[in-house]
Amino acid sequence: MKITIDQDKCVASGQCVMAAEDVFDQRDEDGIAVLLTDSPSPELADDVHHAAAVCPALAITVED
Ligand code: SF4
Repeated sequence: MKITIDQDKCVASGQCVMAAEDVFDQRDEDGIAVLLTDSPSPELADDVHHAAAVCPALAITVED
């Protein structure tokens, strides 16, 4: 699995962090999403796909 965040699209809503807190975090200064890892363990796949699905900005791309 490979994850990317388009930080230019991110609107700092935080849904990705709620969906997969081991994979996503938000910058303290502006809330823009950052990756804690870009290749998480397979058991996190469902959470990562959920995060991508609920992102209101469609800023998260997941390649399996
Ligand atoms: S859910 Fe999308 S818009 Fe919201 S913080 Fe995460 S990447 Fe940014």
